[in-house]
Amino acid sequence: MNIVLLGGPGSGKGTVSNLFEKTQNMGHIATGDMFREEIKNGTELGKKAQEYMDKGNLVPDEITINMLKGKMHEFEGSNGVVFDGFPRNKKQAEALDKMLEEQNQKVDLVIFLDIPDEDIIYRTTKRRICSNKECGAIYNLEYKKPKVEGICDVCGSELIQRKDDNEETITERLRVYHEQSKELIEYYEKKKLLYRVQLHANVNITKEMISEWLENYKANR
Ligand code: ADP
Ligand code: ZN
Repeated sequence: MNIVLLGGPGSGKGTVSNLFEKTQNMGHIATGDMFREEIKNGTELGKKAQEYMDKGNLVPDEITINMLKGKMHEFEGSNGVVFDGFPRNKKQAEALDKMLEEQNQKVDLVIFLDIPDEDIIYRTTKRRICSNKECGAIYNLEYKKPKVEGICDVCGSELIQRKDDNEETITERLRVYHEQSKELIEYYEKKKLLYRVQLHANVNITKEMISEWLENYKANR
């Protein structure tokens, strides 16, 4: 089963992916994480991506799609993949369909995490993430605080704030998100793959919610 997560910045895609990874034994592909890793390693791809990310704009489709093509094979034996932050527009969605088709697979379910804009600003400015890539735990200073300030509950690593989680960049990311996501939502609605979840700022996504979504979706097919 391959799942695509749609939703604005800070809508909870990372948290939901982590839960799918753990409870369903699925692979997790997050293009934003891939770019941040390239930046950390100082690669050419990273340098290019950073110019766009710092401004809150999308990295060009060609770069993003090629990066993903190079990594798909890493997930071959896993129990399906959760796509987090990809696709972000129709062109990427079509590219994903094609990549999966080549492996005799498809997108089976699209979960749309629908959250009001004002809640997005609130969630992202207060977001802190674990600096340990293997862990990837996500916290919020208001409603999902770590037990010890600045330290990850799960693995003890330092918590950091993403460079693009400041109000100015988030406002631009939100604008880009609204501009691009409409056709994406329509694309998946037409294919009858879209499952919409209404969220708001203080919802803590749990593994029980994940199973409920999966069951609801299967029951309504
Ligand atoms: P969020 O969903 O909170 O915006 P991500 O980690 O998914 O965070 O993305 C961070 C940034 O990385 C984006 O603002 C964009 O610049 C870049 N990025 C991530 N995924 C894509 C993609 N599929 N296409 C283009 N750019 C992307
Ligand atoms: Zn951690």
